[in-house]
Formats: sequence, C-alpha cells, structure tokens
Amino acid sequence: MDPATKIQDYWVFGEYGGVNPSIEDASTFTFLSAEKMQELFQHEVEGCYLYSRHLNPTVHYLAQALALLEATECAHITASGMAAISCAILEICNCGDNIVSSRTIYGGTYALFKNFLPRLGIETTFVDITDLDAVKKSISTKTKIIYTESLSNPLLEVADIPNLSQIAREYGLLLVVDNTFSPMIITPAKYGADIIVHSLTKFINGASDCIAGGICGTREFIASLKDVHNGSAMLLGPTLDSIRAASIFKNLHTLHIRIKQHSKNAQFIAEKLQELGLRVFYPGLPDHPQHKLMKELMNEEFGFGGMVTFDCGTPEKANELMLKMQENKVGYFAVSLGFYKTLFSAPGLSTSSEIPPEEQQRIGLSPGLVRMSVGLDNDIEVAWERINKSLREVGLV
Ligand SMILES: *Cc1c(COP(=O)(O)O)cnc(C)c1O
Repeated sequence: MDPATKIQDYWVFGEYGGVNPSIEDASTFTFLSAEKMQELFQHEVEGCYLYSRHLNPTVHYLAQALALLEATECAHITASGMAAISCAILEICNCGDNIVSSRTIYGGTYALFKNFLPRLGIETTFVDITDLDAVKKSISTKTKIIYTESLSNPLLEVADIPNLSQIAREYGLLLVVDNTFSPMIITPAKYGADIIVHSLTKFINGASDCIAGGICGTREFIASLKDVHNGSAMLLGPTLDSIRAASIFKNLHTLHIRIKQHSKNAQFIAEKLQELGLRVFYPGLPDHPQHKLMKELMNEEFGFGGMVTFDCGTPEKANELMLKMQENKVGYFAVSLGFYKTLFSAPGLSTSSEIPPEEQQRIGLSPGLVRMSVGLDNDIEVAWERINKSLREVGLV
C-alpha cells in the first residue's frame, strides 16, 4: 500500500466524535492508582500518559501518521528537524564513535556533525555518498552510522538507499536517512533504512508557519528515545506543543495532493530552464546523474519532487536574479522549502554557508547556485513567464 493510502486509512476522532482528534491541552496527566504511575516510569503503557515531554495524545496521533507515511513501526515528534537529527544521533552514538556522512547535506546538519559533535567526542567522516566504494573505505571500527539525505541539499543527488543499507548491514551499522525533500516520493524504510528523520517544517506541514521534526524507526528505537531515565528525546527535551501537532496533523492529510502539484510544477520549470541553456539540477531530467536510480526508488505517482537547483555563475548574479524574481512576483527570496508559494535562496550564501568555501567547491557547490522550492501555482506557465522575464532583465539569457 502506498504511503498516502495508509494515511487515508488512519482514523482518529475527537473526544465528542469530532472529525479531527481533540487537542490534549495539558502538560501532565492524572492517575487513579500509584501502581500505574510507577509502571509508567518503567515502560510505556498503551493508552496511558504521564507527562507531555514524554508523550502527549495529540502529538502521538501525528507520530502515528508519520510512521504510516514512512512505513516504520513507530515515530516520535520533535520541536524541529534539527532536534530530530540530534536526538537520533545522540541516541546511537557515544563518545569515541564515528559517523560516515554524505558531504552534501543540510548546512545545519553539517555544522552539527563538523563543529558540535566533536565536543562530545563524536567524529564524522564526510564522503561522496554516490561513491559506494568511498563509503565502504570510510568505515572504521568506530563507525556506528551511515548518514545521508535521500535527495541531497542543494544538488539533489539521489542516495542509493538499497546499496547503502546493504553496506550498513554488512558492517553492523545503522543507516539514518533524512527524507525531508522527498516525503511520499521515496520510502527509505522499504529499501532497508533503519531510521528516517524529517523536518516537518518543510513539505509535510507545507504552510511555513511553524518548526517541527520527526524520527521514524522500530518500536524499540523509538521507545529508547523516550525512555524516562536514558532517552535523548526525553532528557534533551525538544517537545512539540499539542496545538501545533494538531495543525500539522491536518496538513499532513493533504500532503499527497501537494507533492504531486509541487513535482508537476518543478518538472515544468526544470525543463524550461534547461531549454534556455542553464545548468539545471533536477532528478526528473533524463541527464541527471541519478535519474535512473530515482526512477527505481520513487513511488512514481508523486513525481520527482518540488526542488530545482540551477546555476547563475556568480553569487552576484544569483542575488540579482532572486531579487528580480521577487519583484516580478515569482515567489519569495527566503530560505526553507515546501511552502505553497515558490521560495528561492542561494545555498552557498545561506543554508549551506556552514560548509567552508573550499569544501563547497570540492563538492560541486557552485557559488552561483539558486535553489528553488517550486510552489503550488495552479498555472505554472504564468510563473515561468515571470522567471523568463527576470532571467532576461538581469542578462542571464
Ligand atoms: C530544514 C532542514 C532540516 C532542519 O529542520 P528544522 O525544522 O529547520 O530544524 C534538516 N534537514 C533538511 C534536509 C532540511 O531541509
């Protein structure tokens, strides 16, 4: 069953039979017996709640829906994508451990691995994740995790999840996949990924009105994250509020329709940009280096995703173009993605600026890149005319 159909078949009611679940507006929960409370401090009890940093019913509904989306046993919701990533990593890695990570990842994750985790004695080896031999060669006896994004940021490289999970099995490691760019489109757990992390801030919520995240995995792993005495999510405490969880839950139910429209529009824009002779990165273009792999991995009806990256040559030109596109009402000059309107930013100067310039050059992150999250426009040709006009006005074509 595809992920959208699974969510469609998830039924939860409000307290009085409302068509949406009730919002449990409480930080703490009452008990009728001392034994029950004691038991909950030892392990989870289905249908019993203790304290909302541990578990809240409304937040739990969102977690259940996210687990259905990612075809995992369980999920846990966090207050941001970065919280999801850091809690997942810290649940697995101890001082002295190593992570083998894709070198083209979200700037915040890169900074966490490169600058912050070494303070805790956790080191990261960055590799070209599309080079499976390089991945194998980077693994040491200290390695615990292979970390990748299914579609990388901002170059949209496609990770070979089936082979990466094979390697992870072979060496006794866990494969952690950030699927923020491709919910519905790629289901990493189908190909053996152990843990899937998300920034719900992006496509899944789709309204650019809040920050949230999620971690998907086995029942055992999710329980360990929430363990009252040892769990990273429980003890570091990045909890999402129930009111916000309720609004994301509702938005999640329209994700399949939105993803199809994002993909349709992005495919159109990518093809048009390429026709003009620009260097375009989009997995739906036949000359994309992993186009064939993407076709094998994707749940076809959802398309190749809403993100398009293209090269303007220099950061100055990229900035000029983005301001022009904003003036011409193509969308907003802003970081983030998955919004109903088109958003664009220059990764080299913003979301990937945590990656040092020499490293950016080495991984093919050209300084003139513009990353576009294509919106839900009903008539994408209007947007295209405006993009085309902007490109001409700044002399790029
Ligand atoms: C935005 C983003 C994150 C971080 O998520 P926040 O919700 O901003 O904390 C992580 N990974 C990817 C791929 C992202 O785009």
